Amino acid sequence: MTTAREVELVWHDLTPRLLEVVRVNHLGPRMVRITLGGEQLDGFSYAAPDDHVKVFFPEPGAGLPVMPTLGEEGLEPPPPGSPLPTFRDYTIRFLRPEARELDIDFVLHGHGPGGSWAAAARPGDKVGILGPRGSTMVPFTFDWYLLGADETALPALAAWLEQLPAGARIQAYAEVADADDEQKLAGEVRWLHRSRGESLEKAVTALELPPGDGYIWIAGEATGLKPIRRHVRALGHPRDRAEIDGYWKRGTVNLDHHDDDE
Ligand SMILES: Cc1cc2nc3c(=O)[nH]c(=O)nc-3n(C[C@H](O)[C@H](O)[C@H](O)COP(=O)(O)OP(=O)(O)OC[C@H]3O[C@@H](n4cnc5c(N)ncnc54)[C@H](O)[C@@H]3O)c2cc1C
Repeated sequence: MTTAREVELVWHDLTPRLLEVVRVNHLGPRMVRITLGGEQLDGFSYAAPDDHVKVFFPEPGAGLPVMPTLGEEGLEPPPPGSPLPTFRDYTIRFLRPEARELDIDFVLHGHGPGGSWAAAARPGDKVGILGPRGSTMVPFTFDWYLLGADETALPALAAWLEQLPAGARIQAYAEVADADDEQKLAGEVRWLHRSRGESLEKAVTALELPPGDGYIWIAGEATGLKPIRRHVRALGHPRDRAEIDGYWKRGTVNLDHHDDDE
């Protein structure tokens, strides 16, 4: 039996797309919005606030990225002897289909192919994208929403706040390095500054959950999410009404599968 509050997974066709940097805009000292464009964006669509694509980066000095090898089940290892693609997950921040433009907000954290590519990106540079593979469609009819993000998940938090209807009961937390990383978002957000010793972990593990049927979405650094996951479970919140998703892991290169285990 379906209920009005059932979370649904919607699958999309997987098409690799080669795109070009159109514009680069700094949103703060550690975040850059890169607008990608090109005719290969035709037919691209997405649905949920946290929908994301895999971005394929060129090797340093190369003009073009190695694009993905696709099989029946999606992304596959390339044939033996072929160059390996370099890719990372990034959230779709804005799509303007009529202008054939897609915005992605990159954290400039100073290492890795993704962070380094974004720091040096110029109009005309090329990247590939693949996805989104699927959209987790969370009904906007829950009694309340608890949302949380670090910088890597700010694009998705911003989209949550834009998409939830007026009147939705929302508690939103965003952890950033400092005050100059704050962004103007569509709803009220409690900003947590690591420079003041604040964190998502401390804020959320101190919370009680409101009464009623709520949904929790929190994403950020994987290690700090574990105590949050334990806290939410200890409070008896149903597992199928929470997505607490590791977007990256300190000291680990390319957390390719989202870390959402125990
Ligand atoms: C579903 C999903 C959506 C995401 N959306 C976004 C997005 O919109 N914008 C975005 O910037 N990121 C996003 N991320 C996170 C991004 O994929 C990771 O941060 C990724 O590791 C970046 O790749 P890299 O090549 O820069 O670094 P990697 O090569 O993966 O890692 C190199 C080193 O950098 C460290 N590192 C990685 N990310 C960070 C960071 N943010 N801060 C400090 N150190 C870091 C690693 O621990 C490692 O030590 C998303 C992740 C997922 C799973």
